[in-house]
Amino acid sequence: MTNQITEEKIRENLELVKRGEPLNISLAVLNGEFKKAYFERQPKFRNCTECGKSFKVTLNKKGFCSVKCRKANKLKKIKFFPQRLSCVICEKSFKQKFHNQSTCSKKCNKDKIAEQRHQYYLFKKSQSKQKE
Ligand SMILES: [Zn+2]
Ligand SMILES: [Zn+2]
Repeated sequence: MTNQITEEKIRENLELVKRGEPLNISLAVLNGEFKKAYFERQPKFRNCTECGKSFKVTLNKKGFCSVKCRKANKLKKIKFFPQRLSCVICEKSFKQKFHNQSTCSKKCNKDKIAEQRHQYYLFKKSQSKQKE
């Protein structure tokens, strides 16, 4: 018996998978062949969703030609209207610089995260008490 992976063998094993029968090559090998075939079928070039420029598709680059375009597209999706809010930590009034901003400064944001962690901790603690 030869262990060579041939097209025929892969096809044979695909049939075995469909029927739910044991394979005669390892699943890892079959998976590897699947992935290779899948990537070979993928178009090598695509048009960027943002600027329409043609670019080479790689594992990390699928919809956009560049990080810039990906970010630009993301920003478009989030309709951001800066608002004047009062900081959830120190209550100082501030104007939002980015989406979801609820604190006036980095320092207050740190405090907010610490506060959230603390709240989460208390929540978990009260849950484990209920179970007892
Ligand atoms: Zn682009
Ligand atoms: Zn603040």
